[in-house]
Amino acid sequence: MNYDVIIIGAGPGGIFSAYELAKLNPELKVAVFEAGHALNKRHCPIDGEKVKTCIGCKSCSIMSGFGGAGAFSDGKYNITNDFGGTLHEYIGKKKALDLMKYVDDINMAFGGEGTRLFSTAGTKFKRECIMHDLHLLDASVRHLGTDINYVVLDNLYNFLKDKIDFFFDTPVDTVTRIEGGYQVTCKGEVYTCEKCIISVGRIGSKWMEKVCKDMKIPTKSNRVDIGVRVELPAEVFSHITDELYESKIVYRTKQYGDRVRTFCMNPRGAVVNENTNGIITVNGHSYEDPALQTGNTNFALLVAKHFSEPFKDSNGYGESIARLSNMLGGGVIVQRFGDLIRGRRSNPVRIEEAFITPTLKATPGDLSLVLPKRILDAIIEMIYALDKVAPGTANDDTLLYGVEVKFYNMEVEVDENLECCYDGLYIIGDGSGITHSLSHASASGVHVARNICKQ
Ligand SMILES: Cc1cc2nc3c(=O)[nH]c(=O)nc-3n(C[C@H](O)[C@H](O)[C@H](O)COP(=O)(O)OP(=O)(O)OC[C@H]3O[C@@H](n4cnc5c(N)ncnc54)[C@H](O)[C@@H]3O)c2cc1C
Repeated sequence: MNYDVIIIGAGPGGIFSAYELAKLNPELKVAVFEAGHALNKRHCPIDGEKVKTCIGCKSCSIMSGFGGAGAFSDGKYNITNDFGGTLHEYIGKKKALDLMKYVDDINMAFGGEGTRLFSTAGTKFKRECIMHDLHLLDASVRHLGTDINYVVLDNLYNFLKDKIDFFFDTPVDTVTRIEGGYQVTCKGEVYTCEKCIISVGRIGSKWMEKVCKDMKIPTKSNRVDIGVRVELPAEVFSHITDELYESKIVYRTKQYGDRVRTFCMNPRGAVVNENTNGIITVNGHSYEDPALQTGNTNFALLVAKHFSEPFKDSNGYGESIARLSNMLGGGVIVQRFGDLIRGRRSNPVRIEEAFITPTLKATPGDLSLVLPKRILDAIIEMIYALDKVAPGTANDDTLLYGVEVKFYNMEVEVDENLECCYDGLYIIGDGSGITHSLSHASASGVHVARNICKQ
């Protein structure tokens, strides 16, 4: 039960810590504790027929298990410091990019070879955006797709399983300091280690808050992003998605000066439910395999809110809005853009008559009863702005699913090694509040593993 290193959480952060430790020092005794299931046991019961909406499983297979929240994601691997987290503020821009590229090479070696790497470098679309006060962020994006992402994770697990002790369905209850290291308890068992890497992701946010409170690790509040998922015929955005796959476009509204951004674009993809601690929100993904693609493209439009004084709980604010949509719609609400701007709810007949088939079964309703006016106004203004570079975005039949909320963990105070105020305790990935993406979370894992091995 004694380890050199214990890793808590087997998402990208935890997996790439384990990978780099095993590679650099095979002598190290390393254990990974994961609250969710092994990869082959992860299965979301929603099948669209018998089970149509989230039934609130004890362990959500979308968010937990080997591969973390990213396992069934679209596998959009963004190599950039412009979004996806602020890792570069801790370790430097060049190092952060080098680590993201290093992980991309590993993903290619473990089953991702042949997938396309898209880039905004030299695109004409950037100029077209600026002409309409829309700002395209720079990035290279590898699209693994939900199917290939799974293959890469499976291969990584097969590579690691004989080198690392994996404990699945084993949520860690407590972490405490002991002489010479840390003690971790789960299911009544006690394990010790010299170094501990915590990488519990968004689903572990409440647990992380408790650990920080109990151990008096300083934190600061983080922002929450609130908005909707837009779904429209793939043709509307195909001139952009065929070239760039994903475009992160930022717009500052004329009305309030708020920033709205596109997020997580899924060409020919599907809209899906997401369950964060029992709250049902919306997300999206798409497959690399053309046979699994749909006729629609979806992306999120998000507005960031950050509260500091006297109210600090940005996530609590986002949760309340999501709960309101769950209360009114029994889950996610869908509304036609045309209905929204005419101030009327969508109903099953209006959705049925639309020239687009929704890819998610959601409750037709009225998003203006859920989203605060300021956020809704910003989203409407952005839709009209996008209509100038992708005509058809503001069509009546464009579907808006709500709400989409991106919760960010409170930011934990760590140094350039991502080590907190205690020697040998590292807090990485989305659980640290520093990263919000596959690439930044994975890179943070490699970074701490290298520092541990250096010591
Ligand atoms: C549907 C969906 C689609 C996404 N698509 C993309 C995308 O295309 N591109 C992109 O860059 N990002 C995407 N993301 C975000 C991305 O998945 C995350 O940024 C990334 O997975 C973060 O990695 P992580 O290791 O920090 O945390 P996570 O992946 O969240 O992993 C944390 C793990 O820790 C475990 N855990 C939590 N608490 C405990 C505990 N107490 N004890 C033991 N284990 C614990 C959890 O079960 C989980 O498996 C998507 C997210 C979702 C939900």
